[in-house]
Amino acid sequence: MAPALILRDGRVWDGLATEPRPADVVCEDGVVREVTAPRSARSGPEDLEVDLAGCTVLPGLIDCHVHLVWDGSPDPATHVDQDGEQLTTVRAAEHARAYLPAGITTVRDLGGNWDIAVTLARAVDRGHLDGPTIVAAGQTVIMTGGHDPFWGIPCDGPDEVVRGVRGQVAKGAGVIKTAATGGVYGQTHGEEVGASELTYEELAALAHEAHRRGRRVAAHALGEEGVRNAVRAGIDTIEHGVFLADDVIEDMVRRGTVLCPTAEVYRRIADGQAPEYAVRKARDVVEAHRRSVARAIEAGVPVIAGTDAGAPGMAHPSLVDEITTLRDYGLSTLQALRAATSTAADALGRPAAGRVRPGAPADLLLVDGDPFTDLTLLRRPWGVVRHQRLRRP
Ligand SMILES: [Zn+2]
Repeated sequence: MAPALILRDGRVWDGLATEPRPADVVCEDGVVREVTAPRSARSGPEDLEVDLAGCTVLPGLIDCHVHLVWDGSPDPATHVDQDGEQLTTVRAAEHARAYLPAGITTVRDLGGNWDIAVTLARAVDRGHLDGPTIVAAGQTVIMTGGHDPFWGIPCDGPDEVVRGVRGQVAKGAGVIKTAATGGVYGQTHGEEVGASELTYEELAALAHEAHRRGRRVAAHALGEEGVRNAVRAGIDTIEHGVFLADDVIEDMVRRGTVLCPTAEVYRRIADGQAPEYAVRKARDVVEAHRRSVARAIEAGVPVIAGTDAGAPGMAHPSLVDEITTLRDYGLSTLQALRAATSTAADALGRPAAGRVRPGAPADLLLVDGDPFTDLTLLRRPWGVVRHQRLRRP
């Protein structure tokens, strides 16, 4: 049998429990084989044993909203335009490589130029690229003239959105991304945050086809009516959710619709780290966004951590900033940690990830100290286990 990795005597947080507990973790064949009483795991002469006294073992973190083609500069789309497809691909690979040293072992890429993110996802799976597992949308399904002008596929009417979904599935997309409303960083003119884009009928057709093909759907949705359309249409995750009416929040709780607020990026854009038109729009919405997210948390909407990394002001990686901002907006420390582990994995339809338990991937974050008392420890991993291999920063 191949050698095991034995993480001995740390405090293990399984992604769900209210606090870490002392345990040994045994990894074999790339998965967690056993979580057992401290100092009880048996080892063979070939096995690698690591003494983790004083450390916490967590699931590898998940960032549910990134854009690998973008670099987090104030106007990242201009760099893609200047660099073209090939150089953007190389830069996107560089962005992807930044995630593992930060303990982020899965990212969901919600839109990019060409098929770059889908290609990178494949490159990671085949071992050509040392990056996190990438669940990639590729191009996004939008209405003509809609949000995501950078990489959207214009689709008008239920038949065309179904074709849009099928096209993305054929290219290998792991998730479908669409836009139910306008956004902040997008068209320089004529795009309004509150304006609905794809209709309820179009979104319902899109969600139905995506689910039929085994894909979850993420909808960019800021304005009240567009969020309502998306939730009613059976969209799985609402991205941003700036204006959330009470009836929509109730509907989300009832259906289990997940909210991915991307809270921090609007604060950064409102701070001025973006083109002037976007700064102005962000300043108009940032307070309403905070209130909506707080109300959704209060009502019990499942919340996941996504950064919009790559977008203006958000470098790769930025996940700990989002985790701390979500806590400022109302999540407890436990809920904020779940938002980047078990709740995130469930939202991505990969419930084996985001947990430390037998059968989970051996993708782990090792922290010196207790992140439950100090979340900022997550910024400085003691070590990261990826596919059972331990790396030290
Ligand atoms: Zn985004």
